[in-house]
Amino acid sequence: MIEKIAAFQNALLKWHLSSARDLPWRGEEDPYKIWISEIMLQQTRTETVKGYYQRFLQAFPNVFALANAEESEVLKLWEGLGYYSRARNLHAAAKIVAYQRKGNFPCTFEGLKELPGVGDYAAGAIASIAFGAKEPALDGNQARVLSRVLGITEVIKSPAALYDRALALVPKGDPGEYNQALMGLGAMICVPKNPKCGSCPVREMCISFREGMQSEIPKKPEKLKRRMEKRAVALVIDDKGRVFVQKRTGGMLIGLWEFPGFTDARTIKDAEVCLEEMGFLVEPIREIGNAKHVFTHLEWHMTGYLFRSVRAPESSVFEDKAGVLALAMPTAIKAYRDYYLEGKTDDI
Ligand code: SF4
Repeated sequence: MIEKIAAFQNALLKWHLSSARDLPWRGEEDPYKIWISEIMLQQTRTETVKGYYQRFLQAFPNVFALANAEESEVLKLWEGLGYYSRARNLHAAAKIVAYQRKGNFPCTFEGLKELPGVGDYAAGAIASIAFGAKEPALDGNQARVLSRVLGITEVIKSPAALYDRALALVPKGDPGEYNQALMGLGAMICVPKNPKCGSCPVREMCISFREGMQSEIPKKPEKLKRRMEKRAVALVIDDKGRVFVQKRTGGMLIGLWEFPGFTDARTIKDAEVCLEEMGFLVEPIREIGNAKHVFTHLEWHMTGYLFRSVRAPESSVFEDKAGVLALAMPTAIKAYRDYYLEGKTDDI
């Protein structure tokens, strides 16, 4: 734990006073405006937010104006900012504050979190900046700075895991200013790559700086090793030249259509046996090539096999080229879909 909490807070706040960025919401005390800025700043660069913030407040200067607006007007003003659920949540939350709370925002971390779209970070930021609550505003930015200052060498799964340690550093007097100072430090000095420790106001209290570990903190979670899976993919063609398709009913890619795939088949004979277990009687024709698809944690290494259907189970679905084109199929089997669509099975 940091030994000199007061020295850390003082150095940070002094730096913030002299070098704070000139932002349109800086010094703002109106919870409505603070709320709008904090929601806009999530997942969006500060420079981009500036113009949107000003246009939004011109159109909706208070929570009643926003609550009474049409959703289409709100979305139009949000156009280009992305993550449109933020705009819909702002609109829904404005209605709650305006109609159910007579225009009064909740003033506690817990109360703010009950509003649609307000998570830990925004609740901490609004509670501390607008209402002086002793709360951290923990997002990835603040978590990175604190991990470095405190020399946390373990993997932090989410910013919330640092809550107790972050809270211990928040001063009772002006926690909002402190949170904004820490955000500024993360944006300007303690940046993700190559932090500018030479210009950092808290380097004397920073454990990572002292130990020379700035580039190793925050520690990234180890990348999961991808599992490799060998698969046989079967194109089963009926006497009208149509191909057998089935809908995935569980697990990965649920709801998408596919050609049958077998993880335990290594040869055309193995695939034939698997098809027989499904109720087919097929004539093996040929191998039709390999394909690979990489998912986040899994790689499919596929070999395709072509079969003529002699007998198919009742209720089997066979589709012609137009039918296959109309189905939602995973990219993973694109090579075999193309093989069929390009007419390469027309000879059987
Ligand atoms: S000294 Fe370096 S690593 Fe530590 S807080 Fe400052 S910029 Fe970040």
